[in-house]
Parts: sequence; structure tokens; C-alpha cells
Amino acid sequence: MNCPKCGQGVPDKAAFCIHCGYRFPADPSFVPPPPRDPFAPYSPDPAARKPFQPLCITSFISGIASLLLLLMGFCCGLFALVSFGLAITAVVLGVMGRKHYDPALHRPDSLSLGKIGLILGIVGLTLFVVGLFIMLLVFGISFLAEMGRLG
Ligand SMILES: [Zn+2]
Repeated sequence: MNCPKCGQGVPDKAAFCIHCGYRFPADPSFVPPPPRDPFAPYSPDPAARKPFQPLCITSFISGIASLLLLLMGFCCGLFALVSFGLAITAVVLGVMGRKHYDPALHRPDSLSLGKIGLILGIVGLTLFVVGLFIMLLVFGISFLAEMGRLG
């Protein structure tokens, strides 16, 4: 190509004229990559792993722990009481987590995780109440039998 200022031939890819020093306008075909705005919100790659909704995963863990502790509650009543608390936690966090789920921020399977936590919590609560009822029934019957024997 030729320099638009002095008309002399210059290499095609030259940034400026080697004869007169004229600076050629930037090549329009070259688009520099946009500089990364440090203040822009972090936009993760769609393929990148998103975290689970924290309340959903807590609900899920609480639900499983609740059922495990309920089984251990057959050995020690204290475990059953902790299981009761965890079951309530699983239900509450399951509902809250599903409400606070944001598809832009969280893994989509957070919803099913929260649902499982919710169901496990309800199952745990039901089993706890049923177990408590049976225990009171057995205790009541043996108490009445004892009273009948004494009376
Ligand atoms: Zn020139």
C-alpha cells in the first residue's frame, strides 16, 4: 500500500510510514478484546458449576441426619429429641430454600434437593410423633396394669 501523506510504498501491515512517520489509522478489521470491567458482576460460564442453594442443601442434610438420629433414638432418647429438631429444621429450610432459589445463582437441582429435605423432614416428624405416641401408649398401659395390680 502507499502512504496517504507522502505517497511512498510501505509494507501492508505497517503501523506507520517508514518514510515520513505518518501514523496509519488502526486496522478496522482488528477488534481488540474488550477490557474486563473489574466492577462488573461476575458472570460465570454457563458450563461452570454453580453452588447449591445453601438453605436447600442444609435442609437435605438435616433431613438425612434427622432420620439417622431417629434410628439411634431407639437406643437413646436424647437422639430422638435432636432428630425432632433436625426434622423441623429440614422442613423449614426446605421451604425457605426453594423460595430463595435463584436459577441465575444456584444449581437447578437445588430445588429437588430442597424438596427431598422437606419430605425427609416430614417423614422424620411423622415417625417421631408416631414413636412418641406408641411409647406413651405402652407406658400408659403398663402404668394402668401396675395400678390395677396394686389396687
Ligand atoms: Zn509517508
